[in-house]
Amino acid sequence: MESQKKNTKQNTVIEKLLCSFNQNEIFVKREDLLPFSFGGNKARKAKKFFDYIIKNKYEIVATYGSSSSNHCRVVANLAFKYGIECYIVSPEEEYKETSNSKMIELFGAKIIKAPLDKIKETIDCLMEKLTKNKKAYFIQGGGHGNLGTEAYVEVYNEILDYEKENKVKFDYIFLASGTGTTQAGLACGAILNGEDSEKIIGISIARKNPRGKAVVEESIKDYLESISYNSKVPSVIFDDSYICGGYGKYNDQIVGIIKEVISKEGMPLNTIYTGKAFWGMREYLQKHKIIGKRVLFINTGGTPLFFDDLKEIK
Ligand SMILES: *Cc1c(COP(=O)(O)O)cnc(C)c1O
Repeated sequence: MESQKKNTKQNTVIEKLLCSFNQNEIFVKREDLLPFSFGGNKARKAKKFFDYIIKNKYEIVATYGSSSSNHCRVVANLAFKYGIECYIVSPEEEYKETSNSKMIELFGAKIIKAPLDKIKETIDCLMEKLTKNKKAYFIQGGGHGNLGTEAYVEVYNEILDYEKENKVKFDYIFLASGTGTTQAGLACGAILNGEDSEKIIGISIARKNPRGKAVVEESIKDYLESISYNSKVPSVIFDDSYICGGYGKYNDQIVGIIKEVISKEGMPLNTIYTGKAFWGMREYLQKHKIIGKRVLFINTGGTPLFFDDLKEIK
């Protein structure tokens, strides 16, 4: 029984980095080391969606994402693994070949490119066609939705287990926040355990406020309602100070941090998500004069993007 239970757990390691910053100890939860398809938060979320898809005998899966999307890579990979037909809708304006887009092709997913302002109708039209005589499931971009949120409620519980076992308590948890589903899951985990969700700091990698923050709070509300849990939704910290002009944009300091962290710590980061958030975390600690605390950074993955960056950065 016990060993069966353990098999369904994904539990990634938490390690302490050599580097500290303003006497803050930095720990990392290595979600990038989840075993399937280079791991990351998208592997964690997609597993939940595929458990549902397989249980309910869907024959087709469709989703949305850019050519650098980790989510689309993982979904295409799982679809191939389970013999489920896969469609990826992608904005044509930004389409470029990346390690992820190459893998998506390798896994035989059908890629449908559409202009950004026609994405919604393209998806609606596709789903109407696909559901005519087969069971087709649409996963929102980034694995957004309650199943994705649930995946990170479980991660919060893993963090609590680590804290208990090692008799430590993290003062802050930082992560790269995009759709905010990962952050919402962690916040729900905190709420359900009676802890302070405001120690979770989402560093926005693209979205601006007030929308970015509102979407996270909406996801928290949706999830808590879905499990009939009555609680006020606390205000979340979704900091849009470090987006560097938008999705995929970065600066020299981010490149510097990526080089430093792979060299000193052996841990890959990337310019789109984790490198930007790691830089944002350092800036945040500095700006808010946070000193001598225990800080947990969630490495949300995107290892194929690290190799794309490696070709570009000097
Ligand atoms: C998608 C992604 C994120 C953002 O996750 P959300 O749940 O959408 O906020 C962070 N890091 C990596 C590597 C990602 O691929």
